[in-house]
Amino acid sequence: MKVSQFPISTLRDTPADAEVISHQLMLKAGMIKRLASGLYTWGPLGLRVLRKVENVVREEMNNAGAVEISMPAVQPADLWHESGRWDEYGPELLRISDRNNREFCFGPTHEEVITDYIRTEVSSYKQLPVNYFQIQTKFRDEVRPRFGVMRSREFLMKDAYSFHLTPECLQSTYEDMFAAYQKVFTRLGLNFRPVEADNGSIGGNASHEFHVLAESGEDDIAFSDSSDYAANIEKAATLPSTLVRPEASQTMESFDTPNIKTIDDLAQVMDIPATQQIKTLIVEGEDDSTVVLLIRGDHNLNEIKAEKIDGVIVPLTFATEEKIEAVTGSKPGSLGPVGLELRIIADYATQPMADFVCGANKEGVHLKGVNWVRDLPEPEFQDIRNVINGDPSPDGKGTLQIRRGIEVGHIFQLGTKYSESMNAKVLNENGKSQVMTMGCYGIGVSRIVASCIEQNNDENGIIWPAAMAPFQVALAPLNYNKSAEVKAVADKLYQELRDLNIEVLLDDRNIRPGAMFADLELIGIPHRIVISDRGLKEQKLEYKSRTAADAESVELEDAINFIK
Ligand code: ATP
Ligand code: MG
Ligand code: MG
Ligand code: MG
Repeated sequence: MKVSQFPISTLRDTPADAEVISHQLMLKAGMIKRLASGLYTWGPLGLRVLRKVENVVREEMNNAGAVEISMPAVQPADLWHESGRWDEYGPELLRISDRNNREFCFGPTHEEVITDYIRTEVSSYKQLPVNYFQIQTKFRDEVRPRFGVMRSREFLMKDAYSFHLTPECLQSTYEDMFAAYQKVFTRLGLNFRPVEADNGSIGGNASHEFHVLAESGEDDIAFSDSSDYAANIEKAATLPSTLVRPEASQTMESFDTPNIKTIDDLAQVMDIPATQQIKTLIVEGEDDSTVVLLIRGDHNLNEIKAEKIDGVIVPLTFATEEKIEAVTGSKPGSLGPVGLELRIIADYATQPMADFVCGANKEGVHLKGVNWVRDLPEPEFQDIRNVINGDPSPDGKGTLQIRRGIEVGHIFQLGTKYSESMNAKVLNENGKSQVMTMGCYGIGVSRIVASCIEQNNDENGIIWPAAMAPFQVALAPLNYNKSAEVKAVADKLYQELRDLNIEVLLDDRNIRPGAMFADLELIGIPHRIVISDRGLKEQKLEYKSRTAADAESVELEDAINFIK
């Protein structure tokens, strides 16, 4: 491309309303332009980068065996009524009606549409598994669109959906997708971490997010480079509901504190032998009640499902969280206003014992013990909401780092949530009708562009990794319109690079060198070659890598080899 055909529309000043560096630089470089809140036009330069990301994502999806389709962006409300999400989704869903007053929404995601497609497309287990993806514009009426395309209302997402006969088959595709995501983000040159994620309202068994590490990220993630442990801190926030979900535990009993004085009392109320494990203590009370808890003895917070709130250690679910008065860790004897003494048995083979001491300022404070029956699959607990940098990891290896992350990908094992409610079934080996099991896999294609800039910039602008660069090489001729020799060399280099399929931008604007160099740095092209009369006198060109501080002189003859 020549700049005369491919306009560069850089801004000199930093736009005042852009808070984060990627938003500033994308506007400044002319990659995007705001149309309305959360809506952006991608200019030629921005679109080239977006397409780079899109293609890497597409290639790795194809490599992983997913098949591309394209679903409508506008979806009928009926499908959302079937899944129950028309009422659940809330104001992020842009609801629209057509000329006949039929209701539709602009798709924020496509579980309903794909489930509808598959239920008529697939009828036998022999056709499974399937994994379909699309790369398509979504709309979410975000409560606070911000940071440009990082959190926009309209954005480009790759969404994939897989259907299976068994959870084992889903697990296998899930692992393939996990691996494909790692390839995508590695190829794009991003510094990222996969982390365990909250399943949110979707339920299901497993979920991972992929986060690009950046201070401007909106999530806190905790990970350790010397262990496999990594999780989104938000994951812990919904644990209590997982904990008390009756279908997850066979026995869940409650008892009133006044009856419990000793470990044996507790065991009696729970109707279990004192040696059996009680893994969770839940305290509930009226809003003005105060509960004091003390955990003493050696304990591993993660294992005993306790959380720290401002240094206060309490059980996970605490109805009157804000009323907790004082708790000190590991100080036997300092009880505060103690009424009762409770002991929680943590008889895990590997876990040390832990004592809870609990007191309440009034009667009617309830303590519930939740007893997980041993042979049931246990939900995973990773209570890391208030861990700080340097805390040991939950798996006992290494220390935790808490960093800000930008969520660029999210994979989910959905189970039968949609297939059940929308009646997506196949005939199994025995000729019986069986609900399919489902997974979904999203990548924020447009968000990746912004998150990459968050990681790769300096005072002069963007520094693209090769995989995302709109052009690999910039040719910067000085006096292109005046010097026949400069023009000849520039045109020849331009053609040679194009013949080698190296994407090159020739700046034929005839502007001041300073302004030209500033633009080329700002838009972040990895390699720059300056062609000037002065250099050509000695058969030399000037080469500068975007990441190098200074330019260097290269032989005219070697220029192409130098870049290759
Ligand atoms: P977030 O937590 O940032 O709101 P999400 O969890 O709601 O994201 P998902 O439903 O998991 O998003 O969608 C898949 C991917 O789409 C996300 O991982 C993210 O990269 C991207 N994405 C979601 N919302 C936006 C948005 N408003 N703007 C740009 N990309 C988005
Ligand atoms: Mg969201
Ligand atoms: Mg999220
Ligand atoms: Mg998500």
